[in-house]
Amino acid sequence: MPELPEVETIARGLAPELEGRTVTGVVVRETRLRAPLAPDFARRLTGRRLGRMGRTGKYLLTPLDDGRVWLVHLGMTGRLTLGGLHRVALVHDHVALVLDDRRTLVYHDPRRFGRLDVMAAAEIAGIVGPGIDALDVSLTASWLFARSRGRRTTAKALLMDQHAIAGLGNIYVSELLFRAGVRPRRRAARLSREDCERLIAAMRTVLSEAIARGGSSISDYRDGFDRAGSFQNEHAVYDRAGQPCCRCATAIRNIVITGRSSFYCPSCQR
Ligand SMILES: [Zn+2]
Repeated sequence: MPELPEVETIARGLAPELEGRTVTGVVVRETRLRAPLAPDFARRLTGRRLGRMGRTGKYLLTPLDDGRVWLVHLGMTGRLTLGGLHRVALVHDHVALVLDDRRTLVYHDPRRFGRLDVMAAAEIAGIVGPGIDALDVSLTASWLFARSRGRRTTAKALLMDQHAIAGLGNIYVSELLFRAGVRPRRRAARLSREDCERLIAAMRTVLSEAIARGGSSISDYRDGFDRAGSFQNEHAVYDRAGQPCCRCATAIRNIVITGRSSFYCPSCQR
């Protein structure tokens, strides 16, 4: 599932290509996404000039010249690919935007958990939610410490809660917990101020390193030009159960927390 670094990589790649382009047509082949595509989706986008694509949490947001915003969430397996006009339509290519430079931007999503919409700028906050973006400078150790007090949840669940912090998922939470030396199952309420400082520092480092490497391509993820990322080669714990820890050689463990695999080193993480 694309997380912050993957969505950020797509936004940074596509933004300069799309900004100022006009959508001359929209082809809809499949409307049955997680939230069904609005019947007037194509009409709302056709003729609009695109502003600069940006990212909030795991959402791609592109302002339009009529004051509305084009929103994309890639769900589990969504891809947004910029290509030539004569790209052959593949199975699972659900929506294509045709641009005035004769290129197309294709939304491809085998599992159809994604979302595409056009809405008023004022409605965006209600969709994106109240979580602070994981790269927002206002996300500090003090904020995390305050937020974790009295919480009857695990450190991992708190970091993955999109209503608290937006943009993190299983891969990057596993990696940042390892770097901070915190076990995924540690009670959030038991995190010390120092733990929170290490968690926030680890979060920023892991995310910026991952963005620099174009994100992690575990199975489906590709950027806006159909290129894989390479941060999966740097994972210390994610998907490495049974392999030796890069710091201490103890075998990495995999436990299930709220239905999701959680990878950690039992010696480096407390
Ligand atoms: Zn270790």
